[in-house]
Amino acid sequence: MSAAEFIPDHPSLKRLREAAAGCRGCPLWQGPIQTVFGEGPATARVMLVGEVPGDREDREGRPFVGPAGRELDRALEAAGIERGDVYLTNVVKHFKFEERGKRRIHQTPKKGEIDACLPWLDTEIKLVRPEALVTLGATAAKALLGSSFRLTQHRGELLDTEWAPIVTATIHPSAILRNRDEDARRAAREALADDLRVVVRELSG
Ligand code: SF4
Repeated sequence: MSAAEFIPDHPSLKRLREAAAGCRGCPLWQGPIQTVFGEGPATARVMLVGEVPGDREDREGRPFVGPAGRELDRALEAAGIERGDVYLTNVVKHFKFEERGKRRIHQTPKKGEIDACLPWLDTEIKLVRPEALVTLGATAAKALLGSSFRLTQHRGELLDTEWAPIVTATIHPSAILRNRDEDARRAAREALADDLRVVVRELSG
């Protein structure tokens, strides 16, 4: 199974979003509240691609609105990018989690789930045709840049791929929150903003 059979024949972002709400392309639709589709202008020059929506995103039906989203907002602001100008989305559109008591703990999607969901992202990219595409985190990087891609070795580099004229990979903003130490958090924040500044430089170059 895959999302491919749910993609409308003549897709627009609106039609795509509506169709994704009813996707049954993999078993992940069964647990969470809703599909969390990408959002942002169809004319966005920059597309950011994360891994999977989190708890807050699932409740609100919007990408990057939880704690990691706040970190992303800080990094975008530091890099001089308006969030409203960016198209934000995820490789997988349904929250994957494990229940521990009342909490829903994020789980990394499996390759089969990522492959099943990719037709949505592929169509989003074709419709938006961003000048710059940034993958956030190892899962998004591997999904778009290949399973052998090593984020630790290539983050912030300009990559030659078919997805967009400017492509780079950086950490997922949730990685900042995993640092217990405030100095380490600050350094991780600055490094994320630096990677986004690479895109700003290229766009204005
Ligand atoms: S995770 Fe993706 S492929 Fe799976 S049901 Fe949700 S939208 Fe469809």
